[in-house]
Amino acid sequence: MTSIEHNLQQVRERIAAAAARCGRAPEEITLVAVSKTKPAGAIAEAIAAGQRVFGENYVQEGVEKVAALAAHPDVQWHFIGPLQSNKSRLVAEHFAWCHTVDRLRIAQRLSDQRPAHLPPLNVLIQVNISDEHSKSGIMLEAAGELAQQIAALPHLRLRGLMAIPAPEQDYARQLAVCQQMADAFRALQRDYPAVDTLSLGMSDDMDAAIAAGSTMVRIGTAIFGAREYARPSQQ
Ligand SMILES: *Cc1c(COP(=O)(O)O)cnc(C)c1O
Repeated sequence: MTSIEHNLQQVRERIAAAAARCGRAPEEITLVAVSKTKPAGAIAEAIAAGQRVFGENYVQEGVEKVAALAAHPDVQWHFIGPLQSNKSRLVAEHFAWCHTVDRLRIAQRLSDQRPAHLPPLNVLIQVNISDEHSKSGIMLEAAGELAQQIAALPHLRLRGLMAIPAPEQDYARQLAVCQQMADAFRALQRDYPAVDTLSLGMSDDMDAAIAAGSTMVRIGTAIFGAREYARPSQQ
């Protein structure tokens, strides 16, 4: 077994165990394998091990890997990185999901630029839940208004919320932040019945995220190993 295959199996077991602890079915939780900075060969190994959903953070790098792995049409690509307006077209053209919509201007561009032959782009509103130093994400209080605006755009499908909580080692504190997100998610579902996705949980906080109600975890390090940021320009 390759180490990626082994790691994937361990992560799937960890998701199943976390789900079982809170009486949830593991199928409720989608695993997004975060392959940023990793070569297409590593993704191919994960595909061979049965993984089909991948997350990329950098537009150019992601588009290159989508092209390199075009022989696998059942693979689903999620854009999960910060998005600048001038890169929105590439996301609209090459990805199935965008997790990081945090302002109307980006949402409008993604909708306008989504090619007509593709289904609507699935989008999540990124909420800045606990990291005051982060420039990404909308304040929780403003998410409802943005949801209303996104719901009116023809080539986007609002699926839910995403957050990257500030790093925190203490489980109880991880859980408290994740529960705030889960509350907001359930409130959004009351207004938009099609909303079904809470993208929350990374290698270090996935257990708390699943306990709170996450439906989509984004896992990089635990699958592909530590990242090396040797490349000077990532965008
Ligand atoms: C890198 C990244 C992840 C994966 O983080 P790990 O700690 O390596 O699991 C998840 N989500 C986002 C938005 C990321 O940028």
